[in-house]
Amino acid sequence: MKDLDKAYNRINKTTEEHLNQVFSLVQDLYNHPEVGGQEFHAHQILTDYLENLGFSIERKLVMDTAFRAVYQSSVSKPGPTIALMAEYDALPGIGHGCGHNLIQGFSLLAATALKDWIDETGGTLQVLGTPAEENFGGKVHMAEAGLFDSVDAALMIHPSTKNGLGALSSALYPLKFEFFGKTAHGCKPQEGASALDAAVMTYTAIQFQRQFMGKDCFIHGIIKNGGEAANVIPGYASLEYYFRAPTMKEAKKMAQNATKRAQAMADATGCKMESSVYECPYGDTLPSISLAELMHEAMTAEGIEDIEDFDWTVGGSTDVGAVSYKCPTLQANLKIAEPDVLGHSVEMAQATVSDVGKKALLDGARALAKLSYRLLTDPEALETCRSEQEERLEKANR
Ligand SMILES: [Zn+2]
Ligand SMILES: [Zn+2]
Repeated sequence: MKDLDKAYNRINKTTEEHLNQVFSLVQDLYNHPEVGGQEFHAHQILTDYLENLGFSIERKLVMDTAFRAVYQSSVSKPGPTIALMAEYDALPGIGHGCGHNLIQGFSLLAATALKDWIDETGGTLQVLGTPAEENFGGKVHMAEAGLFDSVDAALMIHPSTKNGLGALSSALYPLKFEFFGKTAHGCKPQEGASALDAAVMTYTAIQFQRQFMGKDCFIHGIIKNGGEAANVIPGYASLEYYFRAPTMKEAKKMAQNATKRAQAMADATGCKMESSVYECPYGDTLPSISLAELMHEAMTAEGIEDIEDFDWTVGGSTDVGAVSYKCPTLQANLKIAEPDVLGHSVEMAQATVSDVGKKALLDGARALAKLSYRLLTDPEALETCRSEQEERLEKANR
């Protein structure tokens, strides 16, 4: 217990000492927002910071703006690998309205304090720069490339309007339907085949599908192309859809049903239909209640109050889901704004660089660092996370 106090006191000291420096990175990203896949400035300043701390950096892996920073015990003491995930992509037109500039801050400040202990605890500390959460699903590609295969726990904190221990997320399957008809003069429609008619009838047919969907399933679709001129029978039309469900299996089943409807409407109108996956599918999230409980302890010790339990209602989709199928994963939440502030808003972006945002940065980084320290030094706690993960994976694969 004395050792733990000593470690925690030093974590408090180091996070305090580096708070201004890391907060300036948070502010820098706020002032230079970059959308997913374009985060070159963020990539540069974050990897520079970690390199100065003594991390060895792989600057390009899977995506140009992804990175892996590794800090290992100099005496190569064996031990677990803890990954702190850092997001840094912004939203077009809104800047850091999802607060990802603060997500990297939590992880970098925690890593700063934690790396001093790796020689003593053994094991490996990683900071994984995971770009493009909002658009290309950086973590999905990184997970597919095996970057989380040897990780024992992957952790992050997302800023929010409440404190919490994470939530389930929906699987998302994005499917596009394209219709190829035949253009003709508007006064000689019999010579053409309307792709727009096929698209509109498909849109309606998919509306009728909703009655037969399972719980927590969603369909959102738009007509992306519907022709160019009113006096021309449209030869091309397209629809873009998101099919969301509690599991990928269910999301794909919904998409298959919709595809049958699209094909039937193409046949009815004399068009050809092609379907394609037009964005990165996001898997659902496998919860780690063991990690959530450890985080609850860590947050409470920081004086963080009103911490909501793990939320079992299915929410939006995140690329963190892909990570959760590779290793025990936690995405906790920390309050930086009042509940009336909307996600993806300018107000949320402003909150990341407010005094409340700065205080949250310190609290969150300390909680992340102490939870990681616990996982590095308490084999029993880590084993609990591991066995829960195995059980949940087995159940999900059944
Ligand atoms: Zn977002
Ligand atoms: Zn986000």
